[in-house]
Amino acid sequence: MMLKDKVALVTGAGRGIGQAIALAFAKEGAILVLSDLKTEFLTETEALAKQAGSPKCLLTQANVANGDEVDQVVKIALDTFERIDILVNVAGITKDGLLATMSEQDWDDVLSINLKSAFLFTKACARPMMKQRSGAVINIASIIGIAGNAGQANYAASKGGMIALTKSTAKELAKRNIRANAIAPGFIKTKMTDKLPPDLVEKMKEQIGLKRLGEPQDVANVAVFLASEASAYVTGQTIVVDGGLVL
Ligand code: NAD
Repeated sequence: MMLKDKVALVTGAGRGIGQAIALAFAKEGAILVLSDLKTEFLTETEALAKQAGSPKCLLTQANVANGDEVDQVVKIALDTFERIDILVNVAGITKDGLLATMSEQDWDDVLSINLKSAFLFTKACARPMMKQRSGAVINIASIIGIAGNAGQANYAASKGGMIALTKSTAKELAKRNIRANAIAPGFIKTKMTDKLPPDLVEKMKEQIGLKRLGEPQDVANVAVFLASEASAYVTGQTIVVDGGLVL
């Protein structure tokens, strides 16, 4: 068990990549603090996490873009388990549109939910992690944050920002034995990509070296590595999980 009795806080844990990460951590014996905007999603993750072997599971409802709600999640986690060993910032959205017509609201929503959220959670967890003199922060970025994408200026900026935030967090907190790394997934099969038209998905597959979309589990496997002692000397990095799409 690579994460036995480690306390892991996972945002966006209700479905998709966040749920897969929570379940992979559960299999490795982690105590889970699961957070999502939708509590009805979390009850499913909780049931599956218990089956997978998580010793304890705490559910928290919060909008990751709201500082007071984020602080409350971290407070409840600390009141319950007295430490936070691993923070995984997963919650995210898309609001795609061409630059020339993108509304200011769509820009702000994506930047707040995808990027400000990671700042808020990292800030709130930094103090307990500094006291513990250990911690691992994992930010779920995207290949779009590295390569950019037409119609996704807001999303690309949020994910590129997340990679920069990860490097700054790593530089600032390394002396306290806190590591920060990002994962940049390519196209992963979740509700987020379900909304893409099937012909576009087929075209996408052609461009992917391994000729398939990724599974949430493909991302979760890397998250387990980055959360565990197996990556004790890895910090400030972005690991691309895209089946060879962008090389
Ligand atoms: P998803 O839509 O299936 O899941 C996102 C989760 O985040 C949901 O449970 C949702 O309720 C939660 N969420 C959304 N807004 C929230 C808010 N304001 N506060 C709290 N929770 C909120 O998406 P997914 O595909 O699993 O994506 C998860 C992360 O991975 C996102 O950050 C996404 O940008 C990133 N990502 C996904 C892909 C992909 O191909 N699916 C690729 C690269 C990166």
